[in-house]
Formats: sequence, C-alpha cells, structure tokens
Amino acid sequence: MGVTTGFEKIVREDEPLAMHTWFQLGGPAEYFAEPRNTDELIALVKRCYEEEVLVRLLGRGSNILVRDEGVPGMVIHLSEPVFREIKVEGTSITAGGGAQLGRVVTTAVHTGLAGLEELVAIPGTLGGALHGNAGTAGSDIGQWVSRATVITYTGEVLQRYREDLLFAYGQSSLDELVVLDAQLRLEEDDPKELAKRLQKHWIVRKASQPMGHQCAGWVFADPRGMRAGELIEEAGLKGTLIGGAVVSDRNANFIIAEPECTSQDVLRLIDQVRSQVKERLGVALELELEIW
Ligand SMILES: Cc1cc2nc3c(=O)[nH]c(=O)nc-3n(C[C@H](O)[C@H](O)[C@H](O)COP(=O)(O)OP(=O)(O)OC[C@H]3O[C@@H](n4cnc5c(N)ncnc54)[C@H](O)[C@@H]3O)c2cc1C
Repeated sequence: MGVTTGFEKIVREDEPLAMHTWFQLGGPAEYFAEPRNTDELIALVKRCYEEEVLVRLLGRGSNILVRDEGVPGMVIHLSEPVFREIKVEGTSITAGGGAQLGRVVTTAVHTGLAGLEELVAIPGTLGGALHGNAGTAGSDIGQWVSRATVITYTGEVLQRYREDLLFAYGQSSLDELVVLDAQLRLEEDDPKELAKRLQKHWIVRKASQPMGHQCAGWVFADPRGMRAGELIEEAGLKGTLIGGAVVSDRNANFIIAEPECTSQDVLRLIDQVRSQVKERLGVALELELEIW
C-alpha cells in the first residue's frame, strides 16, 4: 500500500509550497495534505510512520524557508475550520493548532482576557507559536499554556499539562509532530484598557518590521542580552543585497525577498551576514528561521 492510498481526496503531489510561506519562495512538497478532521489526520500520520515517509507540519510558514528544490515526504497543513476553532470559557481560551495567533490574541482582548496583547503582530498559527515559543522581549506564548493536545510521529494522541512543559527563548518542549489544540489560562482585565494596549503594541511593532506587502523572514535568534538586528546593523550590513535577497532597512534581522529572488539567494545572504557579524563583532548568530 502506498502512502496516499485511501487519502486521495486530501493529498496532492508536487504541491508548490512558496504560496504557503511568508517568504513566498521555494519548491514543491512531494506530498501535501489537508486533512478534513482529526481522525483523518491521525490515520495519515500513522500511515506515514508505517511507510517510513518523512512528515512535517506546516503552519502559516512565517518561520520557514523552503529550499528551491522543494521537500521530500509529506507536508501536512491544518487549514480546515475544525483545526482553527477558538473557544472562550471563563478565563481560558482553547484554540486549534491551525488557528491564527492574531485571532487568538484579539479574541482574548475582546473578551477582557489579558496576557497575549504583546504577541499581536507575530504572524502564524497557534501551533507554530507553541512549537517555537513565539514571543517578544516582554512576553511569550508558553507562559500562558495550561494544557495541550498533541499527536506524536507514531500517531498517538497525548495530553500535555503545564507542569511537564518547558519553555525558553525560542524553545519549547511541545515538540511532538502536531499541536492539535491548546488551552491558555489568562487574566481578567478591562476590555477597553486591553484594546488600547493592543493598539499600542501593534503600532510599535508595525513601525519596526518590513511593510506588510513584502515577502520577508525573521532570520536570527537574539543572542543572550543582545538584539540580532542591532548587531547586523552595527556590522554595517543593512541593505546588503545578494541576487533578489536584501537585508531590511527597517530592521536588519529581516531579509526581504524582492521579485526574482530565490531561496538560494536568501541562503547565501544568511551565510554572508553570519560570517561578517562574526568577523566584525565576534558574535556567532544562530538561525531562528527553519530551512526545509
Ligand atoms: C514579519 C515577521 C515578524 C515576526 N515576529 C516574530 C516575533 O516577534 N517573535 C517571534 O517569536 N517570532 C516572530 N516571527 C517568526 C514567526 O512568525 C513565528 O515563529 C511563528 O510562531 C511561526 O508560526 P507559523 O504558524 O508560521 O509556523 P511555521 O513557520 O509554519 O512553522 C514553524 C515551525 O512550527 C512547526 N509547526 C507549525 N504548526 C504546528 C503545529 N500545529 N503543531 C506542531 N508544530 C507546528 C513547524 O513544523 C515548524 O517546525 C516573525 C516572522 C515574520 C515573518
């Protein structure tokens, strides 16, 4: 039995991934699946495991650069509404792994639940945010998690609770294949005050990152006590261009993909930035962006 047998309705072959990522670059996935419900998702994960097919989970693709040659194996996308639901109960919000983080944040604010406002401008899904503990200097998503449902690479469904979860800067122990849903326990506050705070964070963030219509990626992790963007700027690398990839003028930790840019251009620019920051400032930058 092949990996797609019985899944013909939800699996496409050679699906271009560029349009599914923030950079809008890169080649196709060998197999690309959009399961219609949780049972189908679990059955597909089990099949991939049995057939020894490499499987990956794609959120909004805001932390991924897909190589020009594409990716082997199965890429699963939680696009169906059943994976994107957001429910409020008392001071908790439970949302699907495919829910947009921004919608989770605004739902919290509108219902008078505080904690997530600073995360308002982070693109992507709740699942992607939990996988990498997305955050800002002041707050991260991990600190609010009380429970999560995950699916392992073998297709087992598990509940994970606050006490056995660890979150650090850019890191999370929620590292199973799929974060199916998660519950965030928040704090009550005045919705009007929260809406003001949300707006403030939104304005500050929007001013410090590339414009919305640009294809861009957030590239390096901040080294301890330092900002990657400031280091890149200090090394004189703002505006550096390789092919169609350029270091952003607004915030040097973003690389912008101009029309005609390839993933290879971005990879070469990443190497150049890394080696020049090391040479000029003695700091070794680590990638935050995942390369597929
Ligand atoms: C303009 C811009 C601004 C950004 N600002 C910030 C910022 O301030 N702070 C910050 O932390 N990050 C920031 N990022 C990076 C990025 O937005 C975050 O890492 C985001 O949380 C990724 O979510 P995603 O859904 O796009 O995940 P993807 O990029 O699709 O995937 C990232 C990783 O998460 C995994 N994943 C995705 N969904 C799931 C799931 N349901 N279950 C299990 N694993 C999953 C993927 O397999 C992959 O390993 C920024 C990026 C951009 C382009």
